[in-house]
Amino acid sequence: MIILMKPGATPLEVERVLGYARAAGLTPHLAVEDGRMVIGAVGDSSAASAGLFEPLEGVEAVKCIAHPYPLASRHFHPADSIFPLDGFTVGGREIAIIAGPCSVESRQQLLDTARAVRQAGANALRGGVFKPRTSPYAFQGLGEEGLEYLAEARALTGMPIVTEVLSIEQMEIALRYVDVLQIGARNMQNFPLLRAAGETRTPVLLKRGLSASIEELLMAAEYILASGNSRVILCERGIRTFETATRNTTDINAIPVLKSLTHLPVFLDPSHATGHRAYVAAVARAAVAAGADGLLIEVHPQPERALSDGPQSLTPEEFAALVHQVRAVAGAVGRCLVSSLAPAAQWSEALHV
Ligand code: PEP
Ligand code: MN
Repeated sequence: MIILMKPGATPLEVERVLGYARAAGLTPHLAVEDGRMVIGAVGDSSAASAGLFEPLEGVEAVKCIAHPYPLASRHFHPADSIFPLDGFTVGGREIAIIAGPCSVESRQQLLDTARAVRQAGANALRGGVFKPRTSPYAFQGLGEEGLEYLAEARALTGMPIVTEVLSIEQMEIALRYVDVLQIGARNMQNFPLLRAAGETRTPVLLKRGLSASIEELLMAAEYILASGNSRVILCERGIRTFETATRNTTDINAIPVLKSLTHLPVFLDPSHATGHRAYVAAVARAAVAAGADGLLIEVHPQPERALSDGPQSLTPEEFAALVHQVRAVAGAVGRCLVSSLAPAAQWSEALHV
């Protein structure tokens, strides 16, 4: 149920509506739309009807919508969600680039990559320390040691840091370090993990499952939103199809489809979507042309020596060329790349370490 308040509704009137919603067993979520309050009352609405809220002071209209993902949908929040992420905003006109290695492998590898991607124009640093590997014998990540290197890279470059967590226990450790939690394709429907991420106030980068539909992705996001965390970034990363020429098939359609269905920012990861370094820049350009709000790109100083995803990792030089190209595409579609980054105290030294 969506309750639209009048433009001048007082805090007391809003509070009263929230109280009625809770008494009816619903969980209210607040949003501000065009300067007025919108209340999304979610849950089993069989005990409540529009007639319960319509007579209340300050209420303009009540919409009963049976929607599988009401909080993620544009019905609740018609305008794009725009939120700050440590020095820049996500979801507005500016396009953000998160870059870094698939896995944090060593302090030197991470700091070298961080410096290189920052210099080329990345806005945030990624690096996996808890790796979801298909084989149990493949490199599993450095764990907390890797988080320490990520934190050091943030201090040196000023970039916020992003890492994937596979479990609630890992999330609790990662929260002591990171600015953005990544929930990967393999955990898109790990519902306890989604709920736990929803209970934090840390932004979540939620990747589409290997074979998940767009609606399933939106319902996964709904778990996080319904648990109280409104800062969710959706990330298309390619889906499984019969095609074997690429690791996955980029669902470029997902970008305009998601942009029409949800107010949440939509990113694209051309590294996992293609699986081949040679195709990453082309698909990154396509994503920006299609309306993506950001990109996630794997970069490694020596991709041939990477412990995971080397074939799809760009060299720092290739990444710099990609940034240059997507900047031009962004301009052509009325967008631009993020221009500001919180200055780090040691920023100038960091580039020369
Ligand atoms: C990753 O970002 O390194 C990763 C494992 O991605 P995905 O969950 O999309 O496979
Ligand atoms: Mn990877």
